[in-house]
Amino acid sequence: MLTVKNVQKSFGKNKVLKGVDIHIKKGDVTVILGPSGSGKTTLLRCLNFLEKPDEGELIFHDLNTHFKDASKKDILQVRKKTAFVFQNYNLFNNKTALENVTEGLIIGRKVPKAEAIEIGKKALDKVGLSDKYTYYPSQLSGGQQQRVGIARAIAVKPDVILFDEPTSALDPELVGEVLSVMKTLAEEGTTMLIVTHEMSFAQDVANKVIFMDDGVIIEEGTPKQIFVKPKEKRTQQFLRRII
Ligand code: ATP
Repeated sequence: MLTVKNVQKSFGKNKVLKGVDIHIKKGDVTVILGPSGSGKTTLLRCLNFLEKPDEGELIFHDLNTHFKDASKKDILQVRKKTAFVFQNYNLFNNKTALENVTEGLIIGRKVPKAEAIEIGKKALDKVGLSDKYTYYPSQLSGGQQQRVGIARAIAVKPDVILFDEPTSALDPELVGEVLSVMKTLAEEGTTMLIVTHEMSFAQDVANKVIFMDDGVIIEEGTPKQIFVKPKEKRTQQFLRRII
């Protein structure tokens, strides 16, 4: 459903992605692991043009283009069919939980307001926030704010949700509630690409694990292949440090 080939990205002289290939099928739950600075977030941001790669190809439904040549229309098409969940939630502080969820529907997708409100409420119900429609971000815990972020993502019914370290800004006691929502989405067949350091979640929920280091994919496979029998030395070293 989504394939990228040879994605390369530099920031000045710092080459952060050195030729990454990814293939995602409908229903895949793919976790990207790797040390800090290995390029995981940059890769995710490249996939929906939050960063523009210097090189690489993108194949997404009927779109088949080099990133460099992507038109505004292409970028819009990709953005419409993907959703991004940010590490720091990225909510509008002056909007309620429900308004945060409906904003993209009404403004970005031209959904009539009444319909957007219905969809938004359902999305908030799904993440366990049916009693918080009118709350502002400052009145919500980090875990609740991130669940609003996830509700905003599912409300637009994307083909794939990109999660960028969705729990790493949270106090440890709030991590579980967010992972549990993500696990439910995974079990329902949502296609998800997740950068995370939550190893037990990756083992439990992912059907594919990618290990990145220094701007390249070192190894990928099922959770069992990566966690139990990693082939590459760098993967083994990383896992020994983390687990
Ligand atoms: P972490 O697990 O710590 O979040 P990561 O694997 O997600 O790390 P990235 O956030 O993709 O790594 O960063 C990879 C490299 O790119 C780092 O050296 C970072 O400083 C650099 N980088 C990322 N974004 C930018 C930017 N907008 N401008 C300049 N350098 C950047």
